Amino acid sequence: MPVARLLDHKEAAELVEKLSNSYKNVHYYLSFSTPVDLVAAAIISAQTRDETVNKLTPALFAKYKTAKDYADAKLDDLAKDIGSVTFAGNKAKNMISTFRAISEKYGGKVPNSMEQLTELPGIGRKTANTILINAYGIAEGIPVDTWVIKVSYRLGLSLNKNPEKIELDLMKLIDKRYWHNFAYVLKAHGKAICQAVPYCSKCPVSGICPKNGVTTRN
Ligand code: SF4
Repeated sequence: MPVARLLDHKEAAELVEKLSNSYKNVHYYLSFSTPVDLVAAAIISAQTRDETVNKLTPALFAKYKTAKDYADAKLDDLAKDIGSVTFAGNKAKNMISTFRAISEKYGGKVPNSMEQLTELPGIGRKTANTILINAYGIAEGIPVDTWVIKVSYRLGLSLNKNPEKIELDLMKLIDKRYWHNFAYVLKAHGKAICQAVPYCSKCPVSGICPKNGVTTRN
């Protein structure tokens, strides 16, 4: 059984370049037009398939255009409008609190700093990174979701389990010019090849990956 091992900087640089070249056209997977749309989509997306979110958001974005529209929404109405996703009631509640704070503190404009974003109710570092990268083009870190956790462990980019520690490990090993897209590269690789039981023989980075040949979910 291949043993997990942290890559050194040289190996990581080679791996990141190869992997990024293999998934050149990947991008953020949720549809949005404005920072307000993106905050709404990101909150709705927790534990929900991207396709489900992208199916419901066109009608949602047509009805709720500004932070104030969400802030003033009736909980029951908003929960009904996002009723096709899991935990719709809780997510609607979170959206109203978040957009109330954005309306009251920032005049309805979604803030563009990590500190201000993570002070908002319901916005953690992962979502803040997602907003900064995709709404404002600012890569202050790397959003760590379940795909990033699983695949970066296999690849030897982090041996930690805690998302904030994993993000720090990735930021140490990966050149900043890759940060804006690397979470989406890992997700694409996890979905296509490095699945629960991976297809190592088809993997573009099998020559560097410490877990090459793994046949279990670890
Ligand atoms: S598919 Fe196999 S070789 Fe490729 S990253 Fe996953 S575990 Fe490593």
